[in-house]
Amino acid sequence: MKLADYEPIVGPNIIEELKSLARRLKGKLVRNINSTAVGGGVAEILMRLVPLLNELGLDVRWDVIKGEERFFSITKKFHNMLHGKKVKLLPNEIELFLKNGEDNLKNMDLSGDILFIHDPQPIVLVKKKQFQKKSKWLWRCHIDVTEPNEQIWSFLKTFIEQYDASVFSSPNFAQQLKIRQFLIAPSIDPLSDKNKDLSQNEIADVLNRLKIAADKPIITQVSRFDYLKDPLGVIDVYRLVKKYTDCQLILAGGTATDDPESALVLNKVTEKAQGDPDIHILALPPTSDIEINALQRASTVILQKSVREGFALTVTEALWKAKPVVASAVGGIPLQIKHEFSGLLSRTTEGTAYWVKQLLNSPDYAQNLGRVGKEHVRQNFLLTRHLREYLLLFLALYHHSDIVNI
Ligand code: UDP
Repeated sequence: MKLADYEPIVGPNIIEELKSLARRLKGKLVRNINSTAVGGGVAEILMRLVPLLNELGLDVRWDVIKGEERFFSITKKFHNMLHGKKVKLLPNEIELFLKNGEDNLKNMDLSGDILFIHDPQPIVLVKKKQFQKKSKWLWRCHIDVTEPNEQIWSFLKTFIEQYDASVFSSPNFAQQLKIRQFLIAPSIDPLSDKNKDLSQNEIADVLNRLKIAADKPIITQVSRFDYLKDPLGVIDVYRLVKKYTDCQLILAGGTATDDPESALVLNKVTEKAQGDPDIHILALPPTSDIEINALQRASTVILQKSVREGFALTVTEALWKAKPVVASAVGGIPLQIKHEFSGLLSRTTEGTAYWVKQLLNSPDYAQNLGRVGKEHVRQNFLLTRHLREYLLLFLALYHHSDIVNI
């Protein structure tokens, strides 16, 4: 994609502003480092942002650390602990993690004006900072750290505080740190397969393939099969609504063979839905972006009945498609949905069912919520806003040191 491709969506002023911010960073070498080139949200966002930043005249590169399987199983444990899991980190795990850092320090080119390090896996690389006084070092946390396990947090903090600044995704992830913290929300790409416009024919094709007839209203939740997304509660909501209005339910989620719990949840959901031909449980492969896009677009109402959430990109995606969304007021959802304005918030099964009924009975109201929701995403959660905030962040690194030098 080129910057100009986004102009019809966000308008010329936003693109001009990006160019003018970028002029002040022309030629700066920004080196992103993370732990994987494909798969996962971090790689996805880098893949989209890096070419656009280069088009804007910065020299932005993206490198990936090396590590063995054992290293990644330890960093997976870090990840779970950052989500609050109560397990202990063992001394040999810490040792192996630090050893990986040393190996990468030896083998990687860490030159650059700004070293932009993503998530805990490459965090140790900051040790190089003392040898290159002119470089700025940024640590970007993409993980939900509302209530991190104390042991892992205090371990990582010894590295985090060596950076010039840190970046978190949401105000509720902010931490007590000695360095500056920036809050930058995630974004969606309106031109990706998951979000681009689809024709009615393309949508109908997907429904046909998935054997769903669009002959009655469709209520949909797209989510991994995880108890925290409450798919069983979604079936309860549907049953309450179905007493009053004939409708169908789609629960679409990934098959994630590496997550044994997701198979268990999927079984429970299938069991609970048994005997009802109007409940469609779709275990989709990870390459199903067009399918997810079409399902969201074919839906009358979108649900996100999560018990806990990070940011909830599924909500962003649904709002961008101008769909009325009923969602729990958890995680990043209230940043996206202002109740009765850009969508509806609820806390209980009965409350969710109440709002779904309202929406099915009042198409104008539903349409209005969807329209406002889409504008809210256009202003706040598209890729272009993310680019702008990254440029401002890079500039702020220099601004800050000017002030300090005075
Ligand atoms: N998603 C997907 N296939 C699935 C389930 C989810 O592509 O079967 C996508 C979904 O469209 C969204 C992302 O995975 O882009 C989930 O992000 P979110 O922040 O909603 O939740 P998380 O799974 O990170 O908790």
